[in-house]
Amino acid sequence: MSRLPSTDYLVIGGGIIGVCVARELRRRHPERSVTLLEKEPELGQHASGRNSGVLHAGFYYSADSLKARFCREGNRALRDYITSRGLALNPCGKLVVARSEADHAQLDELLRRGTRNGVRLQPVSAEEARRIEPRVKTCERALWSSDTATADPTAVIAAMREDARKEGIRVMAGAAYLGRIGETIHSAAGLVDVGYVVNCAGLYADRVALDFGFSQDYRILPFKGLYLYSSESGPGFRTNLYPVPDLRNPFLGVHFTVTVDGHAKIGPTAIPAFWREQYAGVDRFDPAEFVEIAWRDLGLFFSAGFDFRRLAVEELRKYSRPHLVSLAGELATGVRTEDYREWGRPGIRAQLIHLRTRKLEMDFVLEGDARSLHVLNAVSPAWTCSLPFAAHVCDRITQLAG
Ligand SMILES: Cc1cc2nc3c(=O)[nH]c(=O)nc-3n(C[C@H](O)[C@H](O)[C@H](O)COP(=O)(O)OP(=O)(O)OC[C@H]3O[C@@H](n4cnc5c(N)ncnc54)[C@H](O)[C@@H]3O)c2cc1C
Repeated sequence: MSRLPSTDYLVIGGGIIGVCVARELRRRHPERSVTLLEKEPELGQHASGRNSGVLHAGFYYSADSLKARFCREGNRALRDYITSRGLALNPCGKLVVARSEADHAQLDELLRRGTRNGVRLQPVSAEEARRIEPRVKTCERALWSSDTATADPTAVIAAMREDARKEGIRVMAGAAYLGRIGETIHSAAGLVDVGYVVNCAGLYADRVALDFGFSQDYRILPFKGLYLYSSESGPGFRTNLYPVPDLRNPFLGVHFTVTVDGHAKIGPTAIPAFWREQYAGVDRFDPAEFVEIAWRDLGLFFSAGFDFRRLAVEELRKYSRPHLVSLAGELATGVRTEDYREWGRPGIRAQLIHLRTRKLEMDFVLEGDARSLHVLNAVSPAWTCSLPFAAHVCDRITQLAG
């Protein structure tokens, strides 16, 4: 087994969190070496390159959460990064609509959360909403978020990879973390002696953390997000259209996203996946993962700390294209099944479940000690939050390791 040069910091996982953490460590400690280890041949092949590309404004999250703490600032910081690198940004905003009077209480709650989080959010009448987006359907009123925007996540990660290289970070793609032997890390590219390990392995973050004695109370439960692209020829959508979400779970419901180049897509779903990278067919099938996850899903189906049974049944129905389009049709006029035939690249959420409470974790979770730190549950809006969240991860490393 070959030996690689030793490194002060080893960041495992080349998604947006891993790249941002590696760059922040390098900025803070220019005299120390930083290595980024990614199992795929390229960075951003999972959630960070397969998400909706929405820079969220930050009004969904309760004020005491890390998500609330980093979303508003993250939106601003990522927007600045995107424009400074000359990448495309669509400042199209977002309308959150009420499908019936029953949704009004949730609109009010979002407005309260937005105000507490210092986020710009404007209540608008149905008529005002139609002036923003002529095709919107809403019951009496809606919320308008002018700070929501969209960008191309693959362009963002490619730019960050280039920056990381220029800044002197050793970026090693196609080099999976395989395990540890004391302070030595076993990777597909060879053995490496490491000062400090930062685990940003997304769908495999719990597995890596277990090697270091962490994530004892948690496991990743993967949820698949499917998208349907529009082939409508008429005027498209001017803004993103979202329903009010069920705030008891971390998913936002089927919505319309206007991509950075102005196309509309419906999604993403949150369908339980049976292995971590179950993107299509039997692609990346792992029998051990299948048994573990299917067994966990089955247990949750009969006894969970949240309504998993309803969620799973509702979400599995969304494999049906007409059903998915009909849900989106509750948000806008003129939505026809025949105009939504093209499935996009799915993404899979690395959602954490607490093993004892049997509930989905709503916020980002960090665990670590003087030798390693583990980023667990970097779910949406972690892409938006990535820059201030990475700074927070580095603050924690300083607290733990000095
Ligand atoms: C369908 C979907 C839609 C979303 N939409 C949005 C949105 O609009 N806005 C928003 O803010 N957020 C959104 N998110 C959330 C956002 O994409 C994630 O929060 C973010 O990308 C997480 O980044 P990450 O770096 O933690 O994970 P990832 O991008 O998954 O990166 C983890 C990396 O670790 C690597 N890895 C795993 N195991 C190993 C190993 N053993 N060795 C080496 N490398 C390893 C993987 O290959 C991967 O590249 C969405 C997520 C999904 C799934």
